[in-house]
Amino acid sequence: MNRVSIVRCPDYSDTEKAIAEALKLLGGLENIIHPGDRVLLKPNILAAASPESAVTTHPSVVTSMCKFVLQAGGKPVVGDGAGISRPGATSKALNVSGIEEAARKAGAKVVNFETAGFTLVDVPDPLQFRKLYIANPVLEADVVISLPKLKTHELTYYTGAVKNFFGTLPLRCRKEAHLLGKRDLFGEAVADVYSIVRPSFAVMDGVFGMEGNGPSHGKPVNSEVILASQDCVSLDIVAAEMIGFDPLKIPTTAGAMKKGFGNQCPVVVGTPLKEVKTKFKPSSGGVSTAPSFLTRSLGKYYKIYPRINREKCTHCGACYLNCSPHAIERLEDGSFKINEKKCILCYCCRELCPNNAVEIKKSLLARLLTEKTT
Ligand code: SF4
Ligand code: SF4
Repeated sequence: MNRVSIVRCPDYSDTEKAIAEALKLLGGLENIIHPGDRVLLKPNILAAASPESAVTTHPSVVTSMCKFVLQAGGKPVVGDGAGISRPGATSKALNVSGIEEAARKAGAKVVNFETAGFTLVDVPDPLQFRKLYIANPVLEADVVISLPKLKTHELTYYTGAVKNFFGTLPLRCRKEAHLLGKRDLFGEAVADVYSIVRPSFAVMDGVFGMEGNGPSHGKPVNSEVILASQDCVSLDIVAAEMIGFDPLKIPTTAGAMKKGFGNQCPVVVGTPLKEVKTKFKPSSGGVSTAPSFLTRSLGKYYKIYPRINREKCTHCGACYLNCSPHAIERLEDGSFKINEKKCILCYCCRELCPNNAVEIKKSLLARLLTEKTT
């Protein structure tokens, strides 16, 4: 249950072979898929980005997993909901990421969470939400498999198998979770989602991961691995350690463990972890090494805030539409401005800006306290 397989995979031409090996090391998919099962494969389809940008799960991972699900007797269904609050955002992301074409060619049905409907569900042992709306294709599946991308994240430091299920919420609920305003509370909200979905398996695309300003504007890194596990939390612990982050400080992992999922000491099978360790640069957004009582007492001397670069901004409005506390104001000339007093530093504007026009500004003290992180 808490075993994590690691297989070296230098290039996407090797994906199928590497995933086959990663599955074999864990006893194969036949243990979890029964003939005729509807198997929901949930890649990360955050935005309309090409596979080379390392924002979304690579299509070859989707192709391979569809094949293995079919071999195990299951019926693959591939779906997600993109991060931007705009009609058509998910269908564009499915298309540009190459995932829709890959899934269809591999014999899977493709579902768009944005349009497939949501059902209100009770959260077991809730931490932040008693009830949540979850995308219907997830609830209708017999088996759910996470297909995350290995990336850094400005809010949760790292994003992987557990955080991947945040995409099963409608955007309205995602905004409510961001409004919680603190990383640990946000992590608990993601754990609430996870406890409803209860995935059976995860296969992570770490062939190319993303370091720096993930999950959208970081740098692709050839980290050369496929990871798999029957336990998403264990996979996240191993993957975070692999890229040099403290696994138990990842808010989504801490939240999931608080709900009784995972195991602090997963067993690695396949390639030893030390052979694939790669240090990822963390995001530049507000990752403070100082305790919160100290940063609070520093007042105006400790400031981290997002600002829109007017030269890069094309006035598309994605940040404005997705800012939960309505901290982004539209000015008379059609441009946008961030009201620092209302901003809760959720970094959604940065994540969703297609032009990388939202920059993080820091006071000198904040720079000193946030530079050496993880
Ligand atoms: S301005 Fe950006 S970082 Fe601030 S609350 Fe809005 S979306 Fe979040
Ligand atoms: S900052 Fe980015 S997301 Fe916001 S309006 Fe400008 S281009 Fe669009």
